[in-house]
Amino acid sequence: MIAAIETGGTKVFCAVAETHNPHELVDTVRIPTTTPDETLGEIARFVDRHHSAGGIDAVGVASFGPIDVNPASPHYGWITATPKIGWVDTDLHRALSGLNGVPVGFATDVSGSVLGEGALGAGTGLGTLAYITVGTGIGVGQIINGTLIGGLGTPEMGHVLIRRHPDDDFPGNCPYHRDCLEGLAAGPSIQARWGGPASGAAIGILAWYIAQLCVDIILTTSPERIVLGGGVSKTPGLIEAVRAQTRDLLNGYLPGHPITDVDSGFIVPPALGDMAGIHGALEIARTLLP
Ligand code: ZN
Repeated sequence: MIAAIETGGTKVFCAVAETHNPHELVDTVRIPTTTPDETLGEIARFVDRHHSAGGIDAVGVASFGPIDVNPASPHYGWITATPKIGWVDTDLHRALSGLNGVPVGFATDVSGSVLGEGALGAGTGLGTLAYITVGTGIGVGQIINGTLIGGLGTPEMGHVLIRRHPDDDFPGNCPYHRDCLEGLAAGPSIQARWGGPASGAAIGILAWYIAQLCVDIILTTSPERIVLGGGVSKTPGLIEAVRAQTRDLLNGYLPGHPITDVDSGFIVPPALGDMAGIHGALEIARTLLP
């Protein structure tokens, strides 16, 4: 068996699957994210029960962050400077201490999403894929030739610097950079500017920012597809506007690129919904098997 744990800000999703059939979840549990002691204790109970029943061969964890994903770091698998109260410097290994010697892999939640959508969702069969989430924050997970990208840590493309929309005088609300992408296009900035979900002209402004991210991704890693997920991305009309503005910003620079036809299915919504992360975590576990 392999096990997967997806930790989110409000709930944790745990699953196990047969090693030879990782896409079928054999057992699952959803646990509310409360305190680390309580939540990690619940995760441990689930994992230990399955380990003693038949043995777990590997565990993949996709977690809200920031999380230390550098295996060489002494804090590998720790949630570090999170804004989530009580969770700063939480060592997620504590939940897995009953699995002596079983390999465990850690990745961020958006890394889990790209692995999941690449395994059996909107990017099935594609080796080079980007997953953008636009919600409370903005994050990007990318695989190139099947491997997650990252060196010292996970890339933080949500904070790239971008051109402002000429009709947008909102100062931005990223506590670090003020008007980076996240400071201008994530959920809290939308709420602060417009008092509710984007509609009308606001869609065009939002799409202008997200399209710049798509252009930057296309120009740096040339993915075969971009999956656009997260709560904000469900705004009616937004994905269509992002496709058109991405094409317009590229301005014919990449002749024959699929985005030149906005209906080509190059920028797509996720196919797995909130199941992407858990399937991604199972993929992480799978890569750890001998
Ligand atoms: Zn920022």
